[in-house]
Amino acid sequence: FDGVTKTFRSLRPAVTLPSPTMPLSAASYAFSLLPSPLPSHPAIIDATTGAAVSFPDLLSKSRSLAASLRTHLGLSNGHVAFILSPNRLEIPALYLALFSLGAVTAPANPASTPAEIADLVRLSNPAVAFAVSSTATALPRHLPTFLLDSPEFHSFLTSTATPAAEVRQSDVAVILFSSGTTGRVKAVALTHRSFIVAAAGFYATRREGRPEVTLLAAPMFHTMGFVLALKGVVRLATTVLMGGGRAGVVEMLQAAEQHKVTEILAAPPVVVAMGRPEVAAGLDLSALERVVSGGAPLHPAAAERLMARFPRVELSQGYGLTEAGGISILIGLDECRNVRSAGRIHSNVEAKIVDSVTGEALSVGQEGELWVRGPAIMKGYVGDDEANASAFDSDGWLKTGDLCYFDHDGFLYIVDRLKELIKYKAYQVAPAELELLLQSLPEIMEAAVVPYPHEEAGQIPMAFVVRQPGSNLSEAEIIDFVAKKVAPYKKIRKVAFVDSIPKSASGKILRKELSKQALSRL
Ligand code: AMP
Repeated sequence: FDGVTKTFRSLRPAVTLPSPTMPLSAASYAFSLLPSPLPSHPAIIDATTGAAVSFPDLLSKSRSLAASLRTHLGLSNGHVAFILSPNRLEIPALYLALFSLGAVTAPANPASTPAEIADLVRLSNPAVAFAVSSTATALPRHLPTFLLDSPEFHSFLTSTATPAAEVRQSDVAVILFSSGTTGRVKAVALTHRSFIVAAAGFYATRREGRPEVTLLAAPMFHTMGFVLALKGVVRLATTVLMGGGRAGVVEMLQAAEQHKVTEILAAPPVVVAMGRPEVAAGLDLSALERVVSGGAPLHPAAAERLMARFPRVELSQGYGLTEAGGISILIGLDECRNVRSAGRIHSNVEAKIVDSVTGEALSVGQEGELWVRGPAIMKGYVGDDEANASAFDSDGWLKTGDLCYFDHDGFLYIVDRLKELIKYKAYQVAPAELELLLQSLPEIMEAAVVPYPHEEAGQIPMAFVVRQPGSNLSEAEIIDFVAKKVAPYKKIRKVAFVDSIPKSASGKILRKELSKQALSRL
């Protein structure tokens, strides 16, 4: 902690990064970190089908794919490719191919409804889409679509041409979707530099000796799954893929037993389930060394249950946000089991704790909004100057919207979420989107949506509704109306009828006031 600038910096040695002006794609950088000859253990295993890809295969497939996408689809620098697929074996090769072409990867949640997808397509303006047979029908008709489960796509993996594209590190590489600190979903633009920084950090902590076997339970359209798929490649780990949110925990742990998984990377609901004695009883998880929970708060009681059940397993948390380029703060392998903390600052990241009312930077032990700065932070929201102006301060600090403090040992504690965002099983739910839907119902005069605590999901969306005079609209009717219009994770799961919605003098919904009211109903 620097008391003069009130800035927190990493305790880890700085990771060496390539000069930012050197032309370099995130794929070329990741490949440059790989040894020759490449190892013979699998790079990726699809736990559902048992199919595997080796490291030489992954490299040659991603190169062939890049060449085919350029030749057959004319994809090149700046073209956006929208991806709508559950976790699959082809996805890491597709991401690497798009990286090396300088095309922009825009992956979205395959559970989204056609209306939600139309919105994400409008935000990201793609030239093509990649989907699977089961998700393709939800895409807008005008968008040329290629099926990852088609023979045509598989023929793309065997081209012998060599792609050549000049990519700058400052070029946009990925668009991820996030509502950030306010309002509705937005398109977050992340550059190649952001992923080069992430890859360099993973490489710096690469383990020698027996390769890691990582079970990736996070979906690869989310920042956590996206970055962790890259982690497997540069650390020469075997990544065992699950269906990405769709697989049950028991299925996940069966895969962990079968593939002798050493590390599970998942959202808090998996930690909650793993702590239950009946889950995975009789399975041999003796290879498991580490569980990393991220994407949403981990309840200390759930952490303790997991540690009591698996005393040899190290449990740690990762904290990050889409806008910060994935994981900005994380406990390293060398650090202690301080599971109450969300981690320590990653190399190349600076942090500040700021009083959100006065704007004053605070010291160790004081609670305020966490601001972060560093080379992995987003370029900005695509085409949204207003959102960018409120996301950053004039010195380039990104406001996370999380209320936090650091202790004297540099551990970060997340106290509360200042922003509107609701996290259902670590999936983002933007209240503004649900409020707009509710307000479209003629019998609703006003509505506000806030998070309601839930043991397994972390939070569920709860609606406060003011009905029009004389209306008998029921909780079930409201829940059903919204459920038909949104992806299942965004459903409203609780409704309270009230006479008015508390608002500030400027007309903003007083969400904290409503959250208090929600809690008092617990
Ligand atoms: P996303 O952009 O979907 O990754 O959401 C980022 C937000 O999730 C953060 O700003 C936090 O509010 C929350 N979050 C992520 N990781 C953690 C964690 N380990 N503990 C508490 N909250 C977290």
